[in-house]
Amino acid sequence: MDIAAIRSQFPILNRRLYGRQMVYLDNTATSQTPQRVVDAIVGGYTRTKANVHRGVHTLSQEATELQESARQRVKEYINAEAAEEIIFTRGTTEALNLVASSFGGMILGRDDELILTVMEHHANIVPWQLLQAQRGFKIKVVPIDSAGNLDIEAYKRLFTPHTRLVSVCHASNVLGTVNPVGEMIAYAHSAGVPVVVDGAQAAPHLPIDIRALDADFYTFSAHKMYGPTGVGVLYGKRRHLEQMPPYQGGGEMIDSVSFEGTTFASLPYKFEAGTPDFIGIAALSKAIDFIEETGLEQIAAHEEELLSHTTSRMLAEIPGIRIFGSAPGKCAIISFLLAGAHHYDTGMLLDKLGIEVRTGHHCAQPLMNALGVEGVVRASFAAYNTLQEADLFVDALARVAKILG
Ligand code: PMP
Repeated sequence: MDIAAIRSQFPILNRRLYGRQMVYLDNTATSQTPQRVVDAIVGGYTRTKANVHRGVHTLSQEATELQESARQRVKEYINAEAAEEIIFTRGTTEALNLVASSFGGMILGRDDELILTVMEHHANIVPWQLLQAQRGFKIKVVPIDSAGNLDIEAYKRLFTPHTRLVSVCHASNVLGTVNPVGEMIAYAHSAGVPVVVDGAQAAPHLPIDIRALDADFYTFSAHKMYGPTGVGVLYGKRRHLEQMPPYQGGGEMIDSVSFEGTTFASLPYKFEAGTPDFIGIAALSKAIDFIEETGLEQIAAHEEELLSHTTSRMLAEIPGIRIFGSAPGKCAIISFLLAGAHHYDTGMLLDKLGIEVRTGHHCAQPLMNALGVEGVVRASFAAYNTLQEADLFVDALARVAKILG
């Protein structure tokens, strides 16, 4: 992979912080954006801004065409059967709230059971708890082993005749663990139970073949895959989406409205009330172009090299460091704690050395409890990171460890 050519597409990587080269290692929270995505956004505002689906005029038709070709692009990226199964949302969070409220609201009642895992992001916990408060179903939680692998035998044991739904992340935003979602889906389906997959951390790193996975729902965010903020995707199987009630009411999601009663639009518009972020949606297709041109396999191999190089150096050179998550095939995410140091102090000092990492509970407090920590520091890689940056990070971390130790 020609890293220099890749980096040249990301203007932000030229920033300097405190007189030093900036090393951006917070890619799990959001990744940076190549110029072509920025150009698509600028073009959306300077050439084609008109509301979609409402106009006969040229500009509106162009904006609509850009949005709908992005839907087609996403459908192809995840190998969905039909573009109607691709619903645009504000992000993974809104997509999961939509599924919980509309699909969960339809199938989960008192005496029913929902299976989550201990490594879920709050976005895949709280929407279910909000529904639970109305419906009173039970939430069961799959545990992990010491390496951060899901305990698949325990998962299977959680199923009972009352199990109605499973919702699981494809990859953990803290441990990097890639869960065997194909196997989990096959098992759930053998019990007649549908599965929701939170793909926020998988979509930028792993090829997603929805039809091979057979997921009932799959969600992800554009901003974590080199795309714009404010745009996300909910994939849903057509037969589920057709049965589900709308999540929000408003313009564009109706067939006809009267005070006697309203009928709803066909898919996907039934779930896209109001004016969507059509400029961001169009720009998402440019992010997918970037990923496909660079090559997802090449990106994954490069990130794996960064992960193993950095992990080995950290373990060899920083006494007492604890790394959380060592599952085979994990994503390039390293969550860690320096011996005797608070995660926040570590992150603050790294920042002063130009290294951008995240600290805290990472919206995964149940996982923090399971790990017995309050928070961790997290360094995470993307396609444009280099071995030189990995070395700058470990060198800076060794300095920080000395200061705080
Ligand atoms: N799930 C996972 C696994 C995540 O990592 C994140 C983002 N940190 C989310 C859900 C929520 O994504 P967003 O904030 O883009 O809605």
